[in-house]
Amino acid sequence: MRLMTHETDASARPARSRSNAGGVATVVAEDAASVQSATSVGEEATAVKSAMTLREDAAGVRSATKDPKDSKDSKVSKGSKGSKDSKGSMDSIDSMESIDYRTPVIRVADLVKDYSRGDNVVHALRSVSLSVGKGEFVAVMGPSGSGKSTFMNLIGCLDRPTSGSYELDGVEVTHLGPSQLADLRNQKIGFIFQGFNLLPRMDALDNVMLPMVYAGVPSQIRQRRAQVALEAVGLGERMHHRSNELSGGQQQRVAIARALVNAPSLILADEPTGNLDSRTSVEIMAILQRLNQAGATIVLVTHEPDIATYCSRTVVFKDGVVLSDHANQRVHSAAEALAA
Ligand code: ADP
Repeated sequence: MRLMTHETDASARPARSRSNAGGVATVVAEDAASVQSATSVGEEATAVKSAMTLREDAAGVRSATKDPKDSKDSKVSKGSKGSKDSKGSMDSIDSMESIDYRTPVIRVADLVKDYSRGDNVVHALRSVSLSVGKGEFVAVMGPSGSGKSTFMNLIGCLDRPTSGSYELDGVEVTHLGPSQLADLRNQKIGFIFQGFNLLPRMDALDNVMLPMVYAGVPSQIRQRRAQVALEAVGLGERMHHRSNELSGGQQQRVAIARALVNAPSLILADEPTGNLDSRTSVEIMAILQRLNQAGATIVLVTHEPDIATYCSRTVVFKDGVVLSDHANQRVHSAAEALAA
């Protein structure tokens, strides 16, 4: 799978706040910016933008990260909007809204993507129509060249279709310009890549904070959210380790934490276990399953049938069309597999 990563870090790649696009681009491109400078960039963002991006009134994936400081008593019952404390912490993992399969996060209709190759046209996607409801966990499979990357690039708002429509969280995105798409990516999509795509000289905390810097989240809140997200993926003790000092599994956990922090509507995982050994792969799937059980909507590309068994639905592409699309009869529990 080759989900487009046209910059150093497309996951943290940020929706540019128009007021600070130059600074942000520099920070990302140089891979050398200190958090201090990134922080000052973020702090230039407008309060309006911050408020929009934080979306404190939405019960989002932030709820899937557990704040150990929250007492059990403070949990919000299912179905209620997530409350938050005055510091902007994430809600308890148990406080997600009920899963609502009828609300599509993704709705694509007659999606077509053609590429020119010399005098020829490659029909990478031929009229794909499907919906993914809120709270689904979908495995995308299919042989090489079947159109998986093309599909993921389109639903990740990293590319535009030749024709057809794509609604992300109710917003028709096919006519948006690059800047609006970048904003949408930052606000609505968390990316997880096979190669982790962390900035190696930054520590885990700074990597996780980066998307919030671009979203203009105030520094106190982003630090607290990043800590909570890292604790939720079991890395509370390693926040200050540089990513290149972490194992592959730990790096992928950091990447998962980073994918969560802007409370995305959708998590796109591009072969997230492709670089990991079997047990670590199951550990990563256990984290993703836990997030999904708490309400996160996840679309994951994998070549491995075993990995797909941890998802609740499998969509198989072939020759640019959906060959099959079915609910998995038996969804395996990664946590149980680890305990066995
Ligand atoms: P998969 O991810 O399943 O391997 P892709 O979506 O990458 O499949 O590719 C689908 C088809 O589109 C293939 O025939 C591939 O060669 C072609 N394709 C993908 N990207 C491009 C591109 N940028 N230019 C030309 N052809 C492309």
